[in-house]
Amino acid sequence: MTYFNDFDINENIKKAIKEMGFEEPSPIQEKAIPEILSGRDLIGQAQTGTGKTAAFGIPLINQITTAPHVQTIILTPTRELAIQVSGELQKLSKYMKIRTLPIYGGQSIGHQIRALKQGVQIVIGTPGRIQDHLRRKTLRLDKVRAVVLDEADEMLDMGFIDDIENILKQVNTDRKTLLFSATMPPAIRKLSRRYMNSPVTVSINKSEVTAPSIDQVYFKVLERNKQESLCRILDSKDPELGIIFCRTKKGVAELTEALQARGYLADGLHGDLTQSQRDAVMKKFRDSSIEFLVATDVAARGIDVNDVSHVINYDIPQDPESYVHRIGRTGRAGKSGEALTLVTPREMKHLRSIEAEIKMAIPSHAVPSIEEVVEKQQQSWKNLITDQLNDDEDLSLFNALTEELLEQYEAKDIVRSLMKLNFSSAIGESDDGYNFGETGGAKGMIRFFINVGRNVNMSPKVLIEEISNAVGIPGKAVGRIDIFENFTFVEVPEDVAPFVYEALRYSRINGARVNLEPAKPRPKRENRPRPARPSR
Ligand code: ADP
Ligand code: MG
Repeated sequence: MTYFNDFDINENIKKAIKEMGFEEPSPIQEKAIPEILSGRDLIGQAQTGTGKTAAFGIPLINQITTAPHVQTIILTPTRELAIQVSGELQKLSKYMKIRTLPIYGGQSIGHQIRALKQGVQIVIGTPGRIQDHLRRKTLRLDKVRAVVLDEADEMLDMGFIDDIENILKQVNTDRKTLLFSATMPPAIRKLSRRYMNSPVTVSINKSEVTAPSIDQVYFKVLERNKQESLCRILDSKDPELGIIFCRTKKGVAELTEALQARGYLADGLHGDLTQSQRDAVMKKFRDSSIEFLVATDVAARGIDVNDVSHVINYDIPQDPESYVHRIGRTGRAGKSGEALTLVTPREMKHLRSIEAEIKMAIPSHAVPSIEEVVEKQQQSWKNLITDQLNDDEDLSLFNALTEELLEQYEAKDIVRSLMKLNFSSAIGESDDGYNFGETGGAKGMIRFFINVGRNVNMSPKVLIEEISNAVGIPGKAVGRIDIFENFTFVEVPEDVAPFVYEALRYSRINGARVNLEPAKPRPKRENRPRPARPSR
């Protein structure tokens, strides 16, 4: 197994990686980083979410000097990606004196020119805007030592091929060229033959994996109230012994704290603990003084806890192998086990790819409602109360108050109120955290505004498909749709609106990044502007 420490890279980068909470390289990072460090051109193929940014970011940052000129350019298909990649590189280079700058259309070119003049080492941009700067000579590529084509297949889909070729032609030829792509259509192969220098290809094969036959289910949850959803699931399932998986150390720390604050017996395990701290946590878990172990994949791998009643994927695993590995920790030796996976709307596609790999459909359950949790908890609450009743403890302290209340109220009402007071914290709140306000939708519907329309070949069919895939509602539940040249309105039922919002907010429709927002209510008829004639 490889660790980040095994790479021959600057200590300042290692420190930053540590702070970002990465514990070990992802498969593409493990393979690509040494090749790039050795100076080779590289084609990297892996699905989204596999950590490609750091796979090229780490070795490139390692070779950058503080000289104030552009040394690396990274081409991305969209401005959102440019910003995202820039953010990740800034984090990786936190302890290096390096400046990164995203440049993209839509932002003031003057601002970008001023920023470029101050001396940046890494430029991340969309091919169109980079070309713009090259024409104005506000960006010079003569000292560039590395070029990255990120999400190359998407850039080609979006018609950037000429821009890309133009840019590549202007960079000196003894540069390093890296190309990352989820798929490898012939056009990409051709591009690589023309502009790359005997590149090595690393691809992360989707190896066949089979999941053990244990009960698996996933819960659709909102990003915004994932913790609350987890607690409800835990309360309704009442696991005996569970491992809860998070993606990062930071995630482990945060969730452990949140669970403890809500009164769960939980403790966290991650790579930063000393051996004796780990042992202490494990001892608590084995002798059942905690019921939940919160852990990253790496931390859990080093320990032998196999026999748990529940594996809970608080963060969906990054790949099918790790899914199978995680859930294999339950249901051993003929005992029953359950694997529960929380999936946010934006992760639905990722879940589908895991299902495709393990060749089985994971059934979905709804997050239990407060009522269901209360119903489920009645027995355990009853036990707590009867234990107290059977206890010999002297409760005479409460005599006066008890008498007084019994004189004024029905015993039944008093008991109910006391239970509400005592257990309401365990019940949590029902608010899902979204209030879209008045959106001008039909009764019971929320109306959303989407910032693309016929300009990206939006059609009712495409939109309905996108919504029903992401949210799992039948197409006919989607309400009124109005498609204009540059924007679209769509109405969806109130109860699924938060899911639609999180799923589509920064998604893609027909390859174009879209943004979606609650619509503003329509203006009253008398002062409504005359609708523009739809163009064709
Ligand atoms: P891709 O470009 O392959 O779609 P990204 O580079 O955007 O993937 O990474 C996806 C997410 O995974 C990001 O949030 C990133 O910070 C995180 N990530 C990357 N590498 C690791 C790692 N080694 N361990 C944990 N998380 C990682
Ligand atoms: Mg990426």
